[in-house]
Amino acid sequence: MTKKNKLVIKGGIIATLGEENKILRKHALIIDTQRGIIEGIVPEEKIEEAIQKIIDVTDTAEVQVINAAGKVVMPGFINAHMHFYSSFACGLTKAKSSKNFMEVLENLWWRLDKKLALDDCYYSTALALIAAIKKGTTTIIDHHASPFAVRGSLLKVAEAVQALGLRASLCYELSDRDGAEIASAGIEENLEFIKWVIASNRNDLKALFGMHASFTIEAKTMRRAVERVRALSSQSSHLSQSAAPVGFHIHCAEDLADQEITIKKYSQRVVERLYQEQVLGRHTICAHAVHLNERERELLAETDTVVIHNPQSNMNNAVGVADILKMSEKGVCVGLGTDAMTVNMLEELRSAIWVQRLHNRHPNVAFVEAASLLIKNNPRIASRYWGTIGELVAGAFADIILMDYYPPTELNADNFLGHLVFGLAESTVDTTIVNGKILMQNKQLVGIDEERIAARSLELSRKLWERF
Ligand SMILES: [Zn+2]
Repeated sequence: MTKKNKLVIKGGIIATLGEENKILRKHALIIDTQRGIIEGIVPEEKIEEAIQKIIDVTDTAEVQVINAAGKVVMPGFINAHMHFYSSFACGLTKAKSSKNFMEVLENLWWRLDKKLALDDCYYSTALALIAAIKKGTTTIIDHHASPFAVRGSLLKVAEAVQALGLRASLCYELSDRDGAEIASAGIEENLEFIKWVIASNRNDLKALFGMHASFTIEAKTMRRAVERVRALSSQSSHLSQSAAPVGFHIHCAEDLADQEITIKKYSQRVVERLYQEQVLGRHTICAHAVHLNERERELLAETDTVVIHNPQSNMNNAVGVADILKMSEKGVCVGLGTDAMTVNMLEELRSAIWVQRLHNRHPNVAFVEAASLLIKNNPRIASRYWGTIGELVAGAFADIILMDYYPPTELNADNFLGHLVFGLAESTVDTTIVNGKILMQNKQLVGIDEERIAARSLELSRKLWERF
């Protein structure tokens, strides 16, 4: 039986990204679709030779060729902070209006998440993933909450990720806000899923231990979680060499209220508390980090903790502007997420630039810094969990997008960011490939029944809105 196990993409303009972004014309990408890995990039005159070599060494090999003329070929985008479950909030008008961030949580998100059933977890995820495929986002680090359907919820989300074919890291949002029993269930759900990911040794799904935020997690709950994670990490390093130490994924000083409540209860600032409780580290993600002082930035840098900036969400919730310039200067690894405001990373990138400029009242700041969050730091962050990802280089995961683009002006490695922000951001994703598998080609989803998924989501979200 012959199998299409090599994919060749030729004729396009390749932007490799990575530490040194190269713009390659008259080159082809060769992908091993079985392993989901990029085999190499060869000059166009060597394509026939390279293809012949593939056929010679494996007589069962079949080669599929994609012509990328009129397109830019680049790595898929990474969204480093997301909430799939919020898909069902689109168009919901029943939430009471809110005057501040705490009211937004109480009137919308903490009402919605309580009503989620397991099927809602699956379908809200599937909807977000379809949108992600269309926008060229191929890896997503998600943060899930469904306090009255905790057990098995991450496997439901994972099922959708596997069915749609993307790459994701999942976690459950531990919190004491719904009582001790649900907090315990949150700890177990995280641990069960982490064990499942380690045991199945998958390269599409990864796990973190999710925590909501300092202000909703009591001291004994946080300590119990950290102890259990530590015990599991030492156990799993014996079980599997590939198991990285387990990190946490937590909202951190998103609103001033997180600082105020934490200072009142623990006489410490949020990052100091997370440091003392040993939550920080290079596998831990702190989302937002809007309200930090100098000492907190130092602690994040010292522990090599990841910070994820979510500018559209911060503007939407009116919580403030994260100082990505100061954090970057300190050496904090800052990435870009959307906090479910969108799955479109170029839209988020543009917002990141504009808000820094407005906030600093300076029309010439943060362009390179903001772009680096997306195209340099997000791949570095994702590589902490997956290995080489987010660049087109031999051995990296074959997560690749093709965007329609005839450069209207000179395009080279020096001005690529300008084309990304002002050109490609206005263009359309034509093809999305994850793990060497084509999920969308010629703007058509491949093997995904969007109409069926949307119809079922409509049914479920109607019922959810009735319960809201
Ligand atoms: Zn969030």
